[in-house]
Amino acid sequence: MENRELWERLNMDLEKHDEFLAPLPQVFTELFLNRKNRPAAMGYFDFVVGDVHGIRVHELYAMKEAGAKVFSTFCVYVPEEIVVATGSASIGLCAGAQFTVSSGEKLLPRNLCPLIKSTMGFKLDRICPYFQVSDWVIGETTCDGKKKAWEILNEYIPTYVMDLPQKKDAKDAHLWEEEVREFASFIERETKVELSTKNLALGIQKINNKRQALKRLADLRKHNPAPIHGLDVLLINQLAFFDDPVRFAAKVNDLCDELDLRVKEGIGVAPADAPRILVTGTPQPLPAWKLHALIEQTGAVVVGEETCTGERYFKDMTEPADNVTDMLANIAKRPLKVNCACFTPNQGRLEDINSMAKNLKADAVIDFSLQFCQPYGVESYFVGREMEKGNIPFLRLESDFSSEDEGQLLTRIEALIEMVRA
Ligand code: SF4
Ligand code: SF4
Repeated sequence: MENRELWERLNMDLEKHDEFLAPLPQVFTELFLNRKNRPAAMGYFDFVVGDVHGIRVHELYAMKEAGAKVFSTFCVYVPEEIVVATGSASIGLCAGAQFTVSSGEKLLPRNLCPLIKSTMGFKLDRICPYFQVSDWVIGETTCDGKKKAWEILNEYIPTYVMDLPQKKDAKDAHLWEEEVREFASFIERETKVELSTKNLALGIQKINNKRQALKRLADLRKHNPAPIHGLDVLLINQLAFFDDPVRFAAKVNDLCDELDLRVKEGIGVAPADAPRILVTGTPQPLPAWKLHALIEQTGAVVVGEETCTGERYFKDMTEPADNVTDMLANIAKRPLKVNCACFTPNQGRLEDINSMAKNLKADAVIDFSLQFCQPYGVESYFVGREMEKGNIPFLRLESDFSSEDEGQLLTRIEALIEMVRA
């Protein structure tokens, strides 16, 4: 089946979809393909972007024809292991495009985080085949904006909401474990597949392997000169939410093998004295590439992301167990180690940032908040104070998915880089 026929079957707005995708080849060529010295193994990820609304959507459609379901998520707390165990697909939807924000604003307040507006806009505009192929959206009660937006989204696509606690005490952990068990029953009902020791162990293993591969890649970035551009790694982290987990892990490991050789031979994408930047803050979902592109345009290199399109997604693994009850308990434990600003207090995040800055030998930290994101915007105060204590140069930035403020952002980033170089 051709892509267009598939998109028609998925009830997409083809005209609007063409308009949305039209600039992508040029933007991708300028930002990614034209860069010098990229690892050859990036070819796979470039290929995936080249047909971003094709091959993988065909696979998901075929899975559905064979009786499986597609569940879409927006947060790293949703346990994808459980979905994958039943033979269904768990995908993270992209919500990093300015194109759909104005449609989202038809239903949502303008002064709301662009990630939420972009998400809503993708569904209203019917231009995302991943949204269209999904049977369910799995939301969570992380921030107030998302929590309330799910109620509206539910009028367009069935939306299941997981109740995430706001603290990490024993009673909160207990509540979350119950929530994970209820989610597991919901997935069993929907997919008509019972969770067993065998299939759940396999689900855990597949997702752990994907996380291990991403962690291996992240670890290679501590070398100097940096063996890979931060922008390329951001792209890989973004694609981690879409691709088949087994194939994806294999391709990331192939890339890491190539980077191992680069490290041995001292080959890098930037000179050894290029300023090394750690980015922290809100996630940058596909296709939000602006921040990394601007930072690297100055000659600096991004060496890590303390974000959910980075370290927070893959830093912890799910412990194995020998029965379904204990496996679900372990699945519930892993996300509670993730230090999202939606939790209070969130001292663990400051420790994560400090340890990443040290391991990656970062010269400066840029804390990025999407506009109107209250949890990360407010928590930035503590991040700045912590960096000051450690004498780590620090810059706080706030932006959206548009290109309007690129000049302003670049000026501020250049000032930071000059200071680091001085
Ligand atoms: S930043 Fe928080 S709410 Fe957003 S994806 Fe990460 S864990 Fe979920
Ligand atoms: S970036 Fe902030 S406001 Fe936006 S969805 Fe995530 S936590 Fe909520």
